[in-house]
Amino acid sequence: MRLRTLVDEVRLGPAVYRVLRPYRPLPRAALFPAGGEPRPHCLLMYADRTAAAVLHAAWALATISPRSLVCLPMRAARPPAHTPFAGSEAMSYDLVLLHHRLQFPLSRWKQVRARLRGGTPHTAVLPPGVLPGYEEIDHDARGYAGQRDHLRIELSGRTAFVVGSTVAFRQWGHCLRRLATGPGPDEASSCGAPHHCVSVDDWRPRQDRDWTDLHIEVVADWRPGAVLPAANAVRR
Ligand SMILES: [Zn+2]
Repeated sequence: MRLRTLVDEVRLGPAVYRVLRPYRPLPRAALFPAGGEPRPHCLLMYADRTAAAVLHAAWALATISPRSLVCLPMRAARPPAHTPFAGSEAMSYDLVLLHHRLQFPLSRWKQVRARLRGGTPHTAVLPPGVLPGYEEIDHDARGYAGQRDHLRIELSGRTAFVVGSTVAFRQWGHCLRRLATGPGPDEASSCGAPHHCVSVDDWRPRQDRDWTDLHIEVVADWRPGAVLPAANAVRR
């Protein structure tokens, strides 16, 4: 698997951040929080088949790139017509995948993003097996109290962040694979609705807060919904 990317190196004080973006924009990918910030209970993401394949590759790239931030810009996207966000003032968020070892303060992303330039084209080669299949994962491991490899999903500055370790990104990789390849025969959607979707969440044992669910729906027939003039006026 390959992913054409744009690579930026952003200096902010003494720190240099490496930011990877897909080479081509994703006009048919959008993400909306449902609930309050900074940890809404649910993030609803929509992607056409092309964007689902790019997200799968971007997830694999993030898994093996512990020193980079992998960004999927989506804030310019209009919500698909079939969603509750069409015709509302809801604005799409970007998605950033990063490793917790970077210890990146999420509030700094706005400054990093403002410094992104055209980027240097680079084709990332993603070895097969970066993201294991469902049967290769120890699914019970998530419930172990001592298990430390969980994702964290948070919002900051109109961006949804998925933060994790190599193990955590790998453990959810089968979902992203399924997103890109389509459901198996007789396979139900993750939420029971009649569409193709997967869900990724940051639940962990003994947590002292609600978890956040990232629900990703593949929209094969993407029709852009209307956008209210007011929503356009406040776009950043
Ligand atoms: Zn669903």
